[in-house]
Amino acid sequence: MNSAWASHLAVLAVAAAAGLLGWRLSNAAWGWAAVAAVLGVRLAYHAAHLASFFRWLQRPARDSLPAGRGVWEEAFALLHRALRDRDEERDRLRLALARFRDAGRALPDGVLLLDREYRIEWANPTAARHFNLDARRDVGQPVANFLRHPDFVAWLEAGDFREPLTLRGARGDAVLLVRLIEFGDEQKLLNSRDITAQERLETMRRDFVANVSHELKTPITVLAGFVETLGDPTIEMSAAQRKRYLALMAEQAGRMQRLIEDLLALSALESSAAPEDERPIAMRAFVEALADEARALSAGRHKVIVRIDDEGSLLGSARELHSAFSNMVSNAVRYTPAGGSVTLLWRTQDGRGVFEVQDTGIGVEPRHVPRLTERFYRVDHGRSRETGGTGLGLAIVKHVLTRHEASLEVESQPGRGSTFRAVFPAGRAAPQDPAKAAA
Ligand code: ADP
Repeated sequence: MNSAWASHLAVLAVAAAAGLLGWRLSNAAWGWAAVAAVLGVRLAYHAAHLASFFRWLQRPARDSLPAGRGVWEEAFALLHRALRDRDEERDRLRLALARFRDAGRALPDGVLLLDREYRIEWANPTAARHFNLDARRDVGQPVANFLRHPDFVAWLEAGDFREPLTLRGARGDAVLLVRLIEFGDEQKLLNSRDITAQERLETMRRDFVANVSHELKTPITVLAGFVETLGDPTIEMSAAQRKRYLALMAEQAGRMQRLIEDLLALSALESSAAPEDERPIAMRAFVEALADEARALSAGRHKVIVRIDDEGSLLGSARELHSAFSNMVSNAVRYTPAGGSVTLLWRTQDGRGVFEVQDTGIGVEPRHVPRLTERFYRVDHGRSRETGGTGLGLAIVKHVLTRHEASLEVESQPGRGSTFRAVFPAGRAAPQDPAKAAA
């Protein structure tokens, strides 16, 4: 028996006792009057509590619940507890929902929740960007209104979502990968990912493999041809002819060797994040040594000049910087006709270190300049090959400079010459006595 029933029984007992007392002391009428009086008081008590309860129901806030007395006090306390539990549950749900939304917002992928008619219920900012929609304003709109790509519309209509869809040209030249996952009551989660960078890398990788194969194919074909000719006993040839063939074979083998060396150099640069053997390099001796190499390569056809405007040192990997600078220097020699000049220059400018190679050679048209550091990009294939180029020199230069936080600047005028300039940040160059720097 709960306390409500106990209180009712107690009231009935009091009413009965009062009735009996009235009847005993006087007569039956007084007895009934006493019963009515007890029940009336009880009725007034309930009526007053009910009235305050109704008042509260008009604005049912947990804090303003009436206090109540007796059984009502207990009832209000129970109601208060139930309301508190409900509020706590609601807060928990609200928090869970907010966390879910925050997580959805933070996702690098696009997330769109759709109803059974493919209308938008919720979108995270990445999806809003991918689909060019407003995450608040466009709720309730069909998603196909925002991505009108025919492949996307056809995919939605077909309704077969086992495979993701790759969308090229959905927004500018971006490539999107979209996946649709069905859940709950025919609800859908549309996941979108921008794979433009991956696609570009994949294309670069394919082009690179194709280029390397192509670069190796020519010398190998030539070599194989000579090997066959030399090995054929039916072909007669003079000693001079044989010598010439062997020289041509050596040239092709050298070409393959240079290519492999450059490929290995590039792959070594790519496989570590930063040079490990950094130290201050005394620049005067370094540049003089490069100039000697240039003179050897030029074999007297060019004037090679060295200008050191600042005695100083450069912090970096001597091995890597030598590979980069010698590529710049050999390009200057190779792309400058005989009689021209090549100038190697080192200076510090506003604290930054500048290594520059100027030539009076064939120059490059401005439209080619932004692409010169791409692997295998050549302005004139014939000329590059004739002079022993692999098409990888400036790609190596770019890599090495990036690893040294340096940038490459190119100034060139067709027919007049070029300047290739490596600019190093202030922290790497020191206007220091080179002997001390090397020590
Ligand atoms: P390559 O082995 O063909 O020289 P690089 O990567 O070193 O490859 O250079 C890429 C292209 O840039 C060259 O093929 C050439 O067309 C151009 N180039 C580089 N340096 C010079 C220069 N000093 N003068 C003119 N053109 C240059």
